[in-house]
Amino acid sequence: MKLAAVTVDGVRRAGVVEEDSIALLSTTVDDIVRGAPMGTHGEVLPLAEVRLEAPLHRFNRDILCTGWNYLDHFLESSGKREGQGPAEMPLRPTFFTKGPDTVIGPSDDIAYDPEISAKWDYEAEIAMVIGRDGRSIPEEKALDHVFGFLVANDVSQRDLQRAHGGQWLKGKSLDATMPLGPWITTADSVDLTDMQVQCEVNGVLLQNASSAQMAFSFTRIIAELSHGMTLRAGDVILTGTPSGIGAAREPQLFLHDGDVVVTRVSGLGELRNTVTLTELS
Ligand code: MG
Repeated sequence: MKLAAVTVDGVRRAGVVEEDSIALLSTTVDDIVRGAPMGTHGEVLPLAEVRLEAPLHRFNRDILCTGWNYLDHFLESSGKREGQGPAEMPLRPTFFTKGPDTVIGPSDDIAYDPEISAKWDYEAEIAMVIGRDGRSIPEEKALDHVFGFLVANDVSQRDLQRAHGGQWLKGKSLDATMPLGPWITTADSVDLTDMQVQCEVNGVLLQNASSAQMAFSFTRIIAELSHGMTLRAGDVILTGTPSGIGAAREPQLFLHDGDVVVTRVSGLGELRNTVTLTELS
């Protein structure tokens, strides 16, 4: 099942997406993820006539993120981390967070303010949404705690990532910079073995990898992150980006006003966002 969020007559609603239509429900995706009943199916609208929003709007806390989860991405950045990070691929996943005010919808503009950063970069990723609270979740039970999967772009400001004590929070948390969606595909409808993760900028394919290349699996990420730390229904976890990011290319390639970024994961749908001059200061 694919669960999307739309606002109809001023009220935010969840909807079940099927082919070219969306059947509205009487509750929100945020509530369904936290265990609320789906409510009755109401009006059915053509998908082309609605503007999908980020599926989630109520966050328990920061978005939880995984760094360096594809070996080729770790290697492409070798010597380019400006003194930060380990020399060898870590034995355990790297975790960091980004603020929830980063989240935008699947066709919203990505805020771009060159006064704040000169190095806006893209990172196509698969995101997971937790559907059941748990702490110290063993790998074999990890998927029981996942409500579903969706597409994200962990847009990052590389100069800010380096400028604040080597802690990534600031370079990952500018407002209105992380597209999320286009809907949540529930875990029972996802084949995790070979999901293709892609990012295109202005029609040029710059990232293209399979989830099979992940160093740490979805279940390992949940097991490690939840070890002694409760994960709660509604938490969002990004699982890392493959190679092809702008900062590691030669020459480097950063995002600018007007660029069209398409982020796509097979089986989960695609996001299409335009980088747009926005005063953030
Ligand atoms: Mg990332």
